[in-house]
Amino acid sequence: MNISAAPLGPFETNAYLIVSDDGRTCGVVDAPKGAGAALLGEIKTRGLKLTHLLITHGHWDHMCEAHLFAAAGAQVIAHRDDQQLIENIEAYKDRYQSMIPWLTDDDFCSVKVDRWVTEGDALAACGFNFEIRHVPGHCPGSILFYAAQEKVAFTGDAIFAGSVGRTDLPNGNWNQLLEAIRQRIYTLPDDTVLLPGHGGQTTVGREKKTNPYAKP
Ligand SMILES: [Zn+2]
Ligand SMILES: [Zn+2]
Repeated sequence: MNISAAPLGPFETNAYLIVSDDGRTCGVVDAPKGAGAALLGEIKTRGLKLTHLLITHGHWDHMCEAHLFAAAGAQVIAHRDDQQLIENIEAYKDRYQSMIPWLTDDDFCSVKVDRWVTEGDALAACGFNFEIRHVPGHCPGSILFYAAQEKVAFTGDAIFAGSVGRTDLPNGNWNQLLEAIRQRIYTLPDDTVLLPGHGGQTTVGREKKTNPYAKP
């Protein structure tokens, strides 16, 4: 799996471009502000066929440009517990604008999800097989996309290198997050590379040993 990360937007949210082994098709994980300009041009230049947009959860900084990828032909994948956030982000404008005052109405565009996935589902995308794991607590519809053969998991904001997702946002739940990390992330093989929604990559084994918040 050829993966490149681009930290974008006001929260430096990672957008990941995944390219199939034959170099023909690609998918994107999360769509922060700036992802359209950063990735759609590259996809076109490289002659890749965009097939999927995987949304780890419905927070604005992970989905605000999802509509651009949908318009470019990507099938949009997400968890139904974040349906309101993803398909009606306009309703949450005031909350985000109070945090980032320079955002305009144009920054709030919903997207229609093509396929809702949940715990245990299998997803074939750009030549890879992903297992979906539900990791709520940071956001109700938080999911991770785990590619067992490639030993990578895109974890969104559930866990970071040396930290975990915040739970002080609406519908956050600290105990639920820690339980999800223990049951659905720490049960992955230790050498699984975790690619989070913010910051650099880590591994399951390293977090089990050193994460100060989520102990195994
Ligand atoms: Zn988030
Ligand atoms: Zn985030």
